[in-house]
Amino acid sequence: MSNVTHLHCLVCGRDYAPGEIEYVCPEHGNEGIVDVRYDYERIGRQISPQILRENGDMTIWRYRPLLPIAPGAPVPPLSVGWTPLYPAPRLGQPLGLRHLWVKDDGRQPTASFKDRASAIAVVMAQEKGAAVITTASTGNAAAALSGLCASVGQRNVIFVPESAPQAKIAQLLVFGSTVMLVQGSYDDAFELCLQAAAEYGWYNRNTAYNPYMSEGKKTASYEICEQLGWDAPDAIFISVGDGCIIGGVHKGLKDLLALGWIDRMPRLYGVQAAGSDYMVQAWESGEDVLTKAPIQASTVADSISAGLPRDRLKAMAAVRETGGSYVRVTDAEILDAILPLARATGVFAEPAGAAAYAGLVAAVRLGLVRADERIVVLNTGSGLKDIASAMRAVESSGTRPNRVRPDMDDLRRVMSSLNEEATTR
Ligand SMILES: *Cc1c(COP(=O)(O)O)cnc(C)c1O
Ligand SMILES: [Zn+2]
Repeated sequence: MSNVTHLHCLVCGRDYAPGEIEYVCPEHGNEGIVDVRYDYERIGRQISPQILRENGDMTIWRYRPLLPIAPGAPVPPLSVGWTPLYPAPRLGQPLGLRHLWVKDDGRQPTASFKDRASAIAVVMAQEKGAAVITTASTGNAAAALSGLCASVGQRNVIFVPESAPQAKIAQLLVFGSTVMLVQGSYDDAFELCLQAAAEYGWYNRNTAYNPYMSEGKKTASYEICEQLGWDAPDAIFISVGDGCIIGGVHKGLKDLLALGWIDRMPRLYGVQAAGSDYMVQAWESGEDVLTKAPIQASTVADSISAGLPRDRLKAMAAVRETGGSYVRVTDAEILDAILPLARATGVFAEPAGAAAYAGLVAAVRLGLVRADERIVVLNTGSGLKDIASAMRAVESSGTRPNRVRPDMDDLRRVMSSLNEEATTR
């Protein structure tokens, strides 16, 4: 038995016993997003900062009493979680920020934040004895599910838009998933996957449909706070597509407050691309996200391209209840963020990861953060996921490699021209 007490519907407020419903609240179709609730008193007797200090398991499973899985459930062997939180003084300095960190989830086993959620999906599907797990994805959730399934020999079927970056599709094929390249958008892939799961009886990992995905994603908050000695930061910057990550990060922080392990709630900033800004629009207009119509999404940051953010209820609550804000950045600002982030920290982010930093730059410009605040930027995916975008960023910055014949004379020619450039600049 896990420490889950019930599932709470965020639309109608009904509570369900764990196991009474599998995914959404049946009262309102696929929009019946539910929140997984826990017995914190019981959790507090099983785990504490002191116990964690002595726990050598540096993966998400160190927080097992806070996860929706049985105490003895077998977990996949891939090492998920406990990604580095790097102090980033040279990134903060030009922005006038004195206390900035970058949490690098590009360092997950399949190179994105999504491993946190897919790990939970695999454990839960195996608890149920599911023959097949399925998901729709812009690419990273798919790659994460694919890799985690490979690690335990679990069959899986993946739906991705055919426009997904090559590296992400390569991961799926290498790991041996059954891959459906959908001739349409992520939103089309999502709908098709929901129908397929219902027809074939597959275990469904889909973001915001499966309520347990937030429970994997929330582990990032535990790690950030533990890595900061349980002194919560003032603000966290997170890129938003479906909104499951920001909702999960919020959930993790709420857990820690309920346990009394942190004493304040950080402000959460959701960053969206201008071409996929459903949440920013709703934030600005005050529209109800339950009834706001989908938009046409298009952005270079494929991982945050979502016309109808599936986890929009939790995503809006995350920003509203913490006193944060939604922030819009252009594709140019996203691409322009890749190099400064990489050069000041050594962290190479895919566009959706760099978007979080671009959002911080915008927030500084808008006066949303102060110089002395403690700020965390979450990089959600590795730059190696999308080399084409990285090379666009490099080219537009004017960075060029030097061509040299394999002899010292030619190298000297190149070096002296570089020195001239440097002195004439
Ligand atoms: C999925 C993803 C996001 C956005 O997460 P949502 O839960 O869809 O908001 C951001 N960055 C990367 C790299 C992702 O893979
Ligand atoms: Zn309901």
